[in-house]
Amino acid sequence: MKIELTLDEYFTGVKASDRSILSRAITLIESTKKEHQALAEELIQKCLPFSGNSIRIGITGVPGVGKSTFIESFGKHITNKGLKLAVLAIDPSSQKSGGSILGDKTRMEELSSNPNAFIRPTASAGSLGGVARATRETIILFETAGYDTILVETVGVGQSETTVHSMVDCFLLLLLAGAGDELQGIKRGIMEMADLISINKADGDNINAAKRAAAQVKNSIHLFPATESGWIPQVETCSAINSLGLDNIWDNIKSFENNTKNSGYFTEKRQKQAIFWMHQTIKEQLENRFYQDASIKEKLIKIEKALLNNEISSYQAAKNLLGE
Ligand code: GDP
Repeated sequence: MKIELTLDEYFTGVKASDRSILSRAITLIESTKKEHQALAEELIQKCLPFSGNSIRIGITGVPGVGKSTFIESFGKHITNKGLKLAVLAIDPSSQKSGGSILGDKTRMEELSSNPNAFIRPTASAGSLGGVARATRETIILFETAGYDTILVETVGVGQSETTVHSMVDCFLLLLLAGAGDELQGIKRGIMEMADLISINKADGDNINAAKRAAAQVKNSIHLFPATESGWIPQVETCSAINSLGLDNIWDNIKSFENNTKNSGYFTEKRQKQAIFWMHQTIKEQLENRFYQDASIKEKLIKIEKALLNNEISSYQAAKNLLGE
């Protein structure tokens, strides 16, 4: 990618919500080239005062639960209310395959052509930390461009939920009924992170099973520790394909927002997230700097050998390498 625009052109374009410039600005942020990163940093700095004015919603669930169908219907539902929606995805598998869960062109076809929606697949491979930085900064761009509702999608497996959870205000978990085990591989930790849970595919023959599953989840939530926000996670049913139950979900998101804004939790959480990401970045950079150091690389080979020969303990080896 060539840098063809100046900082001011990027900024003015983003501020005016110019789709093409916004798209190029995101690519700039995702770039790993030094000169792009320097310009991206300046751009973010300029956008920061205009950011923050949105509700950031995380959405997760196992593959097949209906996330893209849900985002498509929900997106239509809320853009009809006159809101501007941006959709992003964090895909842990993209690190290996270079692909993306939103890269599939058949997903969210209608929403992609909606002038009040912007769907951005996270195509960039890299460490989860790198993807997280790009996602957080892309959120800042979207907010500067006037997007008031941000959806961050992730697959309900592995570490990416924790990452998404630490960059959104509100977390929605989609589940399915009837699989016998209602939690279907969703870890308890993820259940505990959810502010809203909806049993999807509550349609046709599945309506009653979905209602039963919702009741069960509601019961099991009572056994969880109280949430930090004081908010009691809401459990609903919905049918993404028939656009049913979406109003309820939106109302719950708004109550969550109002509740946590009134209690001060909303701002407090964003502040904590900002501090968290600073420390994360420090940790990642320190680690990178350490392992990329030529003398460390050399020493590491020798020390690993000594370790394997039982000449040194792991702890001593680490201290030695750290120069302590
Ligand atoms: P994702 O992998 O979580 O993004 O799931 P998809 O949105 O791709 O949906 C997986 C499958 O479930 C598709 O065949 C959808 O048509 C279907 N599906 C999604 N939502 C619903 C729903 O509300 N009801 C029914 N019956 N099927 C649905």
